[in-house]
Amino acid sequence: MIETAGPLELPSTLTPSKLSRFISCPLSFRFAYIDRLAEPANPHQVRGTLVHRALQLLYGAGRPIERTPEQALAALDRAWSELSGTAEVGELGLDEQGEAAFVREAQTLLERYFDLEDPTEVRPVGLELDLRTRVGGVEWRGIIDRLDRLADGEFVVVDYKTGRAPRADHAQSRLGALHFYAFLCEQVLGRRPREVRLIYLRNQVVISQAPTDQSMRGLRQRALAVWAAIERACGTGDFRPNPSRLCSYCAFQAQCPAMAPSVPVRLEAKAVAAAQ
Ligand code: SF4
Repeated sequence: MIETAGPLELPSTLTPSKLSRFISCPLSFRFAYIDRLAEPANPHQVRGTLVHRALQLLYGAGRPIERTPEQALAALDRAWSELSGTAEVGELGLDEQGEAAFVREAQTLLERYFDLEDPTEVRPVGLELDLRTRVGGVEWRGIIDRLDRLADGEFVVVDYKTGRAPRADHAQSRLGALHFYAFLCEQVLGRRPREVRLIYLRNQVVISQAPTDQSMRGLRQRALAVWAAIERACGTGDFRPNPSRLCSYCAFQAQCPAMAPSVPVRLEAKAVAAAQ
């Protein structure tokens, strides 16, 4: 266990990323969201940001009929001009050729997108929509890639993925974050979405599901249970490492006692002043 000087400050919001991070490894959660250690940018993540921004620009400008593959590539150019000078891209250390290959891959993902949906038929009412509500003493927050409104007034939550789609037997388990978004829609907009939809651009897979009373109840119970576990861990400082195959992608291997058990690790705790 990593030693701390007192209770740790709780995160101010609960998000799908925080939930899944705590479930997969409490210590990694602590490094990321309590100690706020930097995580270096990686090309998959930055490419995801680039493609998401291009789709946001495509849907945010002009009339639906103008949402063509050519406009998508123009949106990608604009997204790249916004992103290319940032520290995030700088960390990737790409030379000219590397940058060209990086953008080309993003172009391929955008081209594949047009095989999955006809954007001229889509009626988005929210892009990168930031929804928040207070439940169980904490603010739940989610940023929805796209919220569509169907002709009959029903909502559909859409999330783009630029990584590989899961195997068929793991597909439904990837919808957890989308049920979180559906819950937020219900709380904030007063209407449960008819459907949540994950769109995997790389291998052109779409996974969807209809939220139900049972799935909303289950999501609420699970999220509150995880939040209670986070509160307990912040009170005791006991954030256990949970080694798994995900460790090979973890940015905190150098700080993790599970990776080097003989090396004691001390972190300076961000103790809540006078335990508040
Ligand atoms: S290396 Fe593995 S066990 Fe250690 S913090 Fe990262 S995910 Fe957790």
